[in-house]
Amino acid sequence: SLKFVIDGLKAEIEGKEILKGFNLEINNGEIHAIMGPNGTGKSTLASTLMGHPKYEVTAGSVTLDGEDVLDMAVDERARAGLFLAMQYPSEIAGVTNSDFLRSAINARRGEGNEISLIKFIRQMEGKMKELEMNPEFAHRYLNEGFSGGEKKRNEILQMLLLEPRLVILDEIDSGLDIDALRIVAEGVNAMRNEDRSFLIITHYQRLLNYIKPDFVHVMMQGRIVRSGGPELAERLENEGYDWIKEELGIVD
Ligand code: ADP
Ligand code: MG
Ligand code: MG
Repeated sequence: SLKFVIDGLKAEIEGKEILKGFNLEINNGEIHAIMGPNGTGKSTLASTLMGHPKYEVTAGSVTLDGEDVLDMAVDERARAGLFLAMQYPSEIAGVTNSDFLRSAINARRGEGNEISLIKFIRQMEGKMKELEMNPEFAHRYLNEGFSGGEKKRNEILQMLLLEPRLVILDEIDSGLDIDALRIVAEGVNAMRNEDRSFLIITHYQRLLNYIKPDFVHVMMQGRIVRSGGPELAERLENEGYDWIKEELGIVD
């Protein structure tokens, strides 16, 4: 069956359990949003799904279209179509943005199926134009000296070029002004189709005015504690998280 399934996922960092039995099913074509207070493990979830070595999985399973994701190395996950736009993209000195993009595309396509340089440049330039990015960003070192908003736009450029099967966006809206947010959202919306799934992590309901989720989940203390539709995000915007903490008897 074509879907992304996280079942009972537990993960820790430096011996501290952060994900405490996380469950989620995303069918093909669906957009799920995860909201939650700071420090509840949202970025840990994203990094764990991508196979970041800092996080140790201690229980549970993750499957993409029936394939065991946790069993895959990081590059295999990328090849299987997992994509993460990070909350804090890293800077890599000495590697230009276009070199990085081209190797990422070729890693996804696999050996013997590399994209031609001409085709790559045409695609990259086209997508950069869509994102209203200055062409010089192709030749700059990856994320080095990019502003917060430029880094986020660059993450979306990677997403557009890699055509992932499952897109995870971790606070793509933070640091974006309203025009950049609209451009980023248009990029995401253009990628929506029946074969692709999205997991959108956000702190603010604002993003969800631009990218309409099918489901909204609230994450607290390492797991999903409430699920609903877009109306749940609106309630969080108006009332914050205290009502959920009260219902759950969480004191902090
Ligand atoms: P969120 O994205 O929801 O704000 P994070 O996943 O970033 O939450 O963090 C979840 C918890 O994990 C926090 O308590 C944070 O302090 C802890 N944490 C994150 N990274 C590390 C680290 N490198 N070492 C120790 N604790 C960490
Ligand atoms: Mg945070
Ligand atoms: Mg985070």
